[in-house]
Amino acid sequence: MKRNAPVAQLDRAAAYGAEGWGFDSLRAYNMFTRINPMVENKKYNEDEKWMKEALKEAHLALKKKEVPVGAVIVYENKIIGRGHNQVESLKDATAHAEILAITAASNFFDSWRLKGATLYVTLEPCVMCAGAIVLSRIERLVFGTFDPKQGACGTLYNIPSDDRLNHQVEVVPEILKEECSKILIEFFQKLRTSKATTNGGNH
Ligand code: ZN
Repeated sequence: MKRNAPVAQLDRAAAYGAEGWGFDSLRAYNMFTRINPMVENKKYNEDEKWMKEALKEAHLALKKKEVPVGAVIVYENKIIGRGHNQVESLKDATAHAEILAITAASNFFDSWRLKGATLYVTLEPCVMCAGAIVLSRIERLVFGTFDPKQGACGTLYNIPSDDRLNHQVEVVPEILKEECSKILIEFFQKLRTSKATTNGGNH
């Protein structure tokens, strides 16, 4: 277990017997959900489908030379909001993929409450985005890869599960983990080799 998740969470997860699933992402998924594995397997396939859409958004960010992070919000089997990181293009530190997707979904609902919606994002949300996810009453958060530097959904903090806040969000980590981290790793490798200067770890 490489991830820096809270100890209590890992203890709890260990009780759900992930043996036999074979690969890490499915195992992680199962550990965090605790529901019938057969039912969950179907849900997992759905999650992969929507994460591919979030990855498309990450590729749009990449084209703009932005840190490639993408997000979509799904409600009743339909995308109601999309977004990709545009911090550099918009010169706005708040222009993260999740925030833009939440704004789009709120427009769709004509309400700030996104009850029953699931947010898919390729990278573990930061403090700001995790806060926005809680405030918008999103029901589920599915993310691709953990962010050791800014992650606020299990890595540095665990805002979606913090029961001191008045809304908790179900969190499903590491869906399409390889693809989601690969695009980021390649981006930063290229950045280093070209010695380009940007403001670093923002997404
Ligand atoms: Zn963020």
